[in-house]
Amino acid sequence: MPSALPDGEPVPDDGALPAHALAGAAERPLGFYLHVPYCATRCGYCDFNTYTATELRGTGGVLASRDNYADTLIDEVRLARKVLGDDPRPVRTVFVGGGTPTLLAADDLVRMLGAIRDEFGLADDAEITTEANPESVDPRYLETLRAGGFNRISFGMQSARQHVLKVLDRTHTPGRPEACVAEARAVGFEHVNLDLIYGTPGESDDDWRASLDAALGAGPDHVSAYALIVEEGTQLARRIRRGEVPMTDDDVHADRYLIADEVLSGAGFDWYEVSNWATSAAGRCLHNELYWRGADWWGAGPGAHSHVGGVRWWNVKHPGAYAGALAAGRSPGAGRELLSEEDRRVERILLELRLREGCPLSLLRAEGLAAARRARAEGLLESGPYGEGRAVLTLRGRLLADAVVRDLVD
Ligand code: SF4
Repeated sequence: MPSALPDGEPVPDDGALPAHALAGAAERPLGFYLHVPYCATRCGYCDFNTYTATELRGTGGVLASRDNYADTLIDEVRLARKVLGDDPRPVRTVFVGGGTPTLLAADDLVRMLGAIRDEFGLADDAEITTEANPESVDPRYLETLRAGGFNRISFGMQSARQHVLKVLDRTHTPGRPEACVAEARAVGFEHVNLDLIYGTPGESDDDWRASLDAALGAGPDHVSAYALIVEEGTQLARRIRRGEVPMTDDDVHADRYLIADEVLSGAGFDWYEVSNWATSAAGRCLHNELYWRGADWWGAGPGAHSHVGGVRWWNVKHPGAYAGALAAGRSPGAGRELLSEEDRRVERILLELRLREGCPLSLLRAEGLAAARRARAEGLLESGPYGEGRAVLTLRGRLLADAVVRDLVD
């Protein structure tokens, strides 16, 4: 079951933004997130805004169908052009995520990217990423994406162990994601990410090491490793409540994180965000860095969130309602909020503290500064950067990042 949207004030039918949101836009990078809200089956831990064919049956008719989806999404790209007016910025990053983007034809993804190129232009060094399901791509599919302008690809690997994949309800066979990396490299993808999940019920330390080793053996230049979060309302949460699978505790998550950092740094990967490691600055995900640094991004697709100049808005969630709004010439925006200076200060601390560069101490108030002093004394913040006015997490601080950040925003 997808999670709920926040409340907010209504978005005007034409999607217009307040003038202050566009002021100074030329100075900020602009990215696009394109959401593809379809999956073949729903994984037991997933509460993303995605729909299987069964979940869509009878709820939106032809409008909700994935056959028309690329054209619908292109309508939103054209709306973005109108809303952003004569904004001269070429797009710096495009990220196609889901759901499962590769359930669409490769030509559809290329057409969606083409609409952004036509309407806005792409920066010469634009980063163009799509997420991909290892079972729904083959060399020909990847070749079409590469020829169409994609230069980065992110495969959902999660684990190298069959019994772990089974608990997650992931349908790919172990070994397939690693083969995908080789296929992507062969058709010229410069940057390849593998997504991993740790702390799945039933996973052992050895299973996790085996997953990291298998990922590294495939030769990506980026690895993301996230702790499994059991969201309320998911099938996995129900199975845990019924006692069918055990809940993983925080200590196990911490141990797995330490293993990840040890194995990845031993293989030449540097962390640049708490859950992300890359072999070089060029291997970092620039699109995510735009999010983390408060740049502008337009999120197109059902349930996608956008942020331009301190205005954040989100689209209606259901693919049928989304397509219906665009077909009627209306913005699919469901609600928005205008961020205050205080909202933006807090958000900067929340996001930047998780980065290797950390956040400036000048963002903190008196209580936050006192908490930062304590965190440094307890070995949670690095002393060197602290002396230069930045709060940067140590390895132990990364394990407790959520707690440290809670104290610093006071
Ligand atoms: S493939 Fe990804 S988006 Fe789709 S159901 Fe599984 S976890 Fe969710």
